[in-house]
Amino acid sequence: MKALTAELIHVGDGFASGRAILIEGDRISDVVESASLGDDVALDDWGRTAIVPGTVNAHGHAFQNLFKGFADDRPFSSWRDDVLYPFSERLDADAIYTGALFAFAEALLAGVTTTVDFFYLHDAADGNAEVVLKAAADLGIRLVFARAFYDPEAPTAAPSRYREPALEAADRCRALARRHHDDPLVSVQPAPHSLHAATPETIAIALDLAHELDVPCHLHLAEAAYEREQVEARYGDTPVRLLAREGLLDPRLITVHTVWVDDAEIDLLAEAGAGVVHCPGANAFLGDGIARVPEMLKRGVRVALGPDGGCANNRQSVFDEMRMASLVAKASLVDGGALDAATAFRLGTSAGADLLGLDCGAIEAGRYADVVGLDLDDLSLQPLSMLDRNIVHSMQQTAIKSVMVGGQTVVERGRLANMPATEIAQRIAEVTAGWSRP
Ligand SMILES: [Zn+2]
Repeated sequence: MKALTAELIHVGDGFASGRAILIEGDRISDVVESASLGDDVALDDWGRTAIVPGTVNAHGHAFQNLFKGFADDRPFSSWRDDVLYPFSERLDADAIYTGALFAFAEALLAGVTTTVDFFYLHDAADGNAEVVLKAAADLGIRLVFARAFYDPEAPTAAPSRYREPALEAADRCRALARRHHDDPLVSVQPAPHSLHAATPETIAIALDLAHELDVPCHLHLAEAAYEREQVEARYGDTPVRLLAREGLLDPRLITVHTVWVDDAEIDLLAEAGAGVVHCPGANAFLGDGIARVPEMLKRGVRVALGPDGGCANNRQSVFDEMRMASLVAKASLVDGGALDAATAFRLGTSAGADLLGLDCGAIEAGRYADVVGLDLDDLSLQPLSMLDRNIVHSMQQTAIKSVMVGGQTVVERGRLANMPATEIAQRIAEVTAGWSRP
């Protein structure tokens, strides 16, 4: 058995000293007094460090990391039509692997131990999915592979490589889940793209598969105002009401963004037990608006955090999203008490794990040993008497020194343990050579 100790360890809602985390295989078996450890335990002492749960990114699109800068500072229609759609035609499997390495490396260095990749560059096959899974394994990050369903007839200008008949998407998603069933670092989950790219029938097929696989089902929902209007025009109901009418509001459903919803729709989400991934950075970056998270939480909606795609934020840090969630809630409600640090921290850790159906996000017996070590001498964490609030509101990435996923150290002294960052930067330069901003 091995044990991990440090000056402070996050247990329950606060920090304790003189403790050690017992790790058996890839899980925490107990948190005990350090003084009680026997000589037979291999003790790893991280010293002047605070160990906190690894953060959970509940929504992202890894390949979009390659488009950073090219897509910035435009209205959403130009972001999508001038960059996202045409640039995503340029990526072969090797470039998709590089994009995934880029996003996952950035995430690990920012203290993300679990990340969702909501992936749709399928080419009617699963070869591209496999290279994303390989990138996650090569770096050692825990991956929720949210396999998109995108209808062939969807009335968008999206490339054909996104599109497949729903039953084919379900077959491929099921096969992928079976192939990776025994990998503790991977969970394959169905993800009908959105109400503009998937009909209610497609969403029902994806939800059925989620029940069969016993996992959640991800869906972009009510991200922008135009989308709400389109759904109303096409189906005669607003997005959440349409899902309720079609029997698709389900405890397994994770709605992403969920900005343009009214009070009654928030109540419908709460009653159904459906979840919301709040993407405050991306919602601001793209000019989507501000999701009504304090109201959602008050009504009992389950909420997690996601940085979203690399060209829609442009960062892969959940600590950053905690701060953004706090700031946009305060700004939108004109209330400095609208969303506090403890709530933001929970949304980025245990609430994310619970929404994704994974045993991580907290330092307690039975959960995966996914933790982050913060340097207690880093100025951005001072004064340490306010450490819990400073982690959310003032911490800089200079404080993030060590990251462990499933008991394996994947970031050491602020550097990736499994691949040099310079190698990833070289790959990015090769993939993006000759690209220019449209
Ligand atoms: Zn998204």
